[in-house]
Amino acid sequence: MNPQILIVGAGPTGLVMAYNLARHSIPFRIIDKSDGPGQASRAMAILPRTLEFYQQFGFADEVIDRGIKMEDVYVRVKNKIKAKVHLGSLGEGLSPFPFILTFPQDDHEQFLLGKLKNLGIEVEWKTELLSLAEHGEGVKTLLKAQQEETAYFKYICGCDGAHSTVRKQLKIEFKGEKYKQHFYVMDVHGSGEVMKDQKNQYFI
Ligand SMILES: Cc1cc2nc3c(=O)[nH]c(=O)nc-3n(C[C@H](O)[C@H](O)[C@H](O)COP(=O)(O)OP(=O)(O)OC[C@H]3O[C@@H](n4cnc5c(N)ncnc54)[C@H](O)[C@@H]3O)c2cc1C
Repeated sequence: MNPQILIVGAGPTGLVMAYNLARHSIPFRIIDKSDGPGQASRAMAILPRTLEFYQQFGFADEVIDRGIKMEDVYVRVKNKIKAKVHLGSLGEGLSPFPFILTFPQDDHEQFLLGKLKNLGIEVEWKTELLSLAEHGEGVKTLLKAQQEETAYFKYICGCDGAHSTVRKQLKIEFKGEKYKQHFYVMDVHGSGEVMKDQKNQYFI
C-alpha cells in the first residue's frame, strides 16, 4: 500500500519537507521527474530563517561550516567601488544567525540528500506527476516512471517549483510578472588582482 503522503519535487523545498516528515517517522513517497539532483549553484544565499529551522533539525552548524559568511557586497564599475553593502551583522539582535550564508544550491541539495539517506530515505528520480484529482478524502494521482501508475494518497505536497504541475492542476493562480531585464549567474573559476578598499580590507 502507498504511504498517505506524496511529495512532488526534490528541490530544497521537497527535501526539507521530506526530512521533517522523516524525523517524525511519518511515511511518504518523494518523486522528481529529473534524472538526479541539480548540478548548478542557482540560489547562493541562505537567510537567517532557514538556519533557524536547521537549528531545530540539529544541523545548522554543519551547514554554516560548509558555507561562507557573506560579510560585504561590493558593486564595482570599471574597477572602482561604487557601493558597498555590509551584510555581516544584518540581523543582529533578531536572530542567532544574523548573517547571510553563501552555500550553493547544488551542494545544499546534496547535503539534504545525505541527511535523508542517513534516515533510509531515497528520492524516486525520473518519476513525474502527470495529473491529480480529488478523490473522496484524498487525491488520485497519475505518475510516470518506466510506466504509468495510478496511486492514491491522502495528502500531496506540491514542492514542484515555479511551473508546478500541482498548482496548475488545482487551478491555483500564480500572480506576478517576469523582470524585463535578463540576469546571468555563472559558476566560474576566476583569477585576477585582489583589491583593497580604503580600510585595507581585501575583496575580489
Ligand atoms: C540561475 C538561477 C539563480 C538563482 N539564484 C537564486 C538566489 O540567488 N537566491 C534564491 O533564493 N533563489 C535563487 N534561485 C531560485 C531558486 O533556485 C529556487 O527558489 C529554488 O530552486 C526553489 O526550490 P524548490 O525546491 O521550491 O523548487 P525547485 O528547485 O524548482 O525544485 C522543484 C523540483 O520539482 C521537480 N518537478 C517539477 N515538476 C514535477 C512533476 N510534475 N513531477 C515530478 N517532479 C517535478 C523538478 O524537477 C525540480 O527538481 C535561482 C534560480 C536560478 C534558475
